[in-house]
Amino acid sequence: MIKQKGKIIVVVGPSGAGKSTLLKKIRADFPELKESISCTTRPMRDGEKEGINYFYLTKEEFIQRRDKDSFLEWATVHSNLYGTSKEFVESSVIRGDSLLFDIDVQGADAVKKHFGRGASVIFVAPPSIEELKVRLIKRGTDSDEVIGVRLKNAQGELKRKDDYDYLVVNDDIDRAYDEIYKIISGVLVS
Ligand code: ADP
Ligand code: 5GP
Repeated sequence: MIKQKGKIIVVVGPSGAGKSTLLKKIRADFPELKESISCTTRPMRDGEKEGINYFYLTKEEFIQRRDKDSFLEWATVHSNLYGTSKEFVESSVIRGDSLLFDIDVQGADAVKKHFGRGASVIFVAPPSIEELKVRLIKRGTDSDEVIGVRLKNAQGELKRKDDYDYLVVNDDIDRAYDEIYKIISGVLVS
């Protein structure tokens, strides 16, 4: 067991719930929160950079690292592999740096299992599945097929909404952010 000085804040929720929008505000208001850069096998998107958004690995490289126990957690999300570096997270929180995580529910479960009360998980839920669909369509970043997969996955993820430390319903973005701002401020001074 490591001696944890920094806090871990995890934001989870289905695709389209508003996590990226809320994370942008969190990053601006809490610059002291560092972010772990995950490894992924998903292809780099336009505008992304190696070592900034992710470390991009082949499936073979990812499996090699996984088998060497380099990941604190890893998961298959929307058909690609994603993993969080154990070394980065442990050395950061031992040093006293607090971390912000944007990972999926499987990752949140693993982080919670590893850090217990040292990790605070905020589940961001849409007001309804219908509204989630509207947001995914309006966002315009995904094909109908991808939206279908994300909506199907969302049904399962939403069943877990009450299993975490905090549940924030993103009905109105300013109201939801206000709630998240208070939660994070409270965690960081605790
Ligand atoms: P996620 O990161 O969880 O996939 P996004 O932050 O990309 O979600 O949000 C999905 C879409 O919904 C975006 O187009 C965003 O602008 C919009 N959105 C986010 N929050 C709200 C809200 N409270 N009301 C209406 N639209 C929202
Ligand atoms: P994207 O490919 O859109 O960047 O991310 C897709 C999903 O993967 C998001 O839900 C994101 O939270 C999740 N994700 C990103 N990095 C990790 C990680 O290291 N571990 C886990 N479990 N999920 C991750």
